[in-house]
Amino acid sequence: MEELNLFEYAQKQLDTCAEILDLDPGVHAILRVPMRELHISIPVKMDDGTTKVFQGFRVQYNDARGPTKGGIRFHPEENVNTVRALSAWMTWKCSLLNLPLGGAKGGVICNPKEMSERELETLCRGYAYRVSSIVGPDKDVPAPDVYTTPQMMAWMMDEYSKTVGSHKFGVITGKPLSVGGSAGRGDATARGGMITIREAAKELGIDLRKATFAVQGFGNAGSFAAHLAVSMFGSKVVAITDSRGGIYNADGLDTEAVSEHKAKTGSVIDFPGSTPISNENILELDVDVLVPAALENVITEKNAAKIKAKIIAELANGPTAPDADDILHNNGVHVIPDFLCNAGGVTVSYFEMVQNFYMYYWEEEEVHKRLDKKMTPAYHSVLETSKTYNINMRVAAYVVAIERVVESMSDRGWV
Ligand code: GLU
Repeated sequence: MEELNLFEYAQKQLDTCAEILDLDPGVHAILRVPMRELHISIPVKMDDGTTKVFQGFRVQYNDARGPTKGGIRFHPEENVNTVRALSAWMTWKCSLLNLPLGGAKGGVICNPKEMSERELETLCRGYAYRVSSIVGPDKDVPAPDVYTTPQMMAWMMDEYSKTVGSHKFGVITGKPLSVGGSAGRGDATARGGMITIREAAKELGIDLRKATFAVQGFGNAGSFAAHLAVSMFGSKVVAITDSRGGIYNADGLDTEAVSEHKAKTGSVIDFPGSTPISNENILELDVDVLVPAALENVITEKNAAKIKAKIIAELANGPTAPDADDILHNNGVHVIPDFLCNAGGVTVSYFEMVQNFYMYYWEEEEVHKRLDKKMTPAYHSVLETSKTYNINMRVAAYVVAIERVVESMSDRGWV
């Protein structure tokens, strides 16, 4: 099978928007490629005595608006084009939320599920050491992403601090609270997504107390999304999947009990009282809100026409292929695009940076309030732009985000 080149998706989306905005060709050319990338090899002495070399990347896409920001993924199928695409999306995401940050992304090709804690720590420290010349609190600030955790962020912060010889909590976000983490970072991605769903439901006249949800993916974003759908709105979560399969119950699943089941067995599958559902079929369920919260490229031109959900809230990065967007738009599905829907994570990461800089920490409630004040206007700016230009929500999000990046490039005298 031909390897999916996610960066081509990202470039295609940008090109569509460049046309609408009538972007200057030089500006368009700058925005089409990453500004800088580092490829590294990280040797790790494994528990069995052998040495393995892991390949890693850090791609800094555009820093016109400030230090670059974006997570690090550990995944067996990671490749540099995926990291490039994700770094572009981080640029648009930070801009859309009006954060004073550019975009970046990191990745390591590895399978953390098959590695011991000691091997993972060595890999994290090796990564942090090798990117130390290009990251820093006022240069580029990584964070967690797929299969990376607050503990891993703590190891990387520690290694970077040792390398430069002083405490640098602000070099990375998503850390545990004991080492400069922010209250409210844990569920921030899901909570931000819920805020956009709340606003979308108002727009569409959907009563969320009676709404049904299907959640694809039960990692950090997906599991919190399922819990918050119940606790914030009183909605019913009827289906959940993870990488091994899924569960369905038309009367609603007890999401807390599902989490306990997953903690015990390693998966949501075989949850008592549920029937099995696949990762493909969950997307086609007749629900009010579909939340793709796993990996990229799951909604394509092959299944887009079969989607019955009224709202697609993209908590994952890149779940929808470009060809699927028009189909969804024509069918009246309200898509909350990824770099709007999942921007809660980086927004609270930005709050974490601010708190690290001034060494004073906020209460969780304060974080929630500030998150709402960022997400709600971002959603409405996209909605208004989509109505003004009569374009779909994703293209509208691009228009808002790109206009701001271009303004910064122009004010800095780059173009
Ligand atoms: N990995 C998250 C994202 O894709 C968060 C990035 C960050 O906090 O810097 O938005």
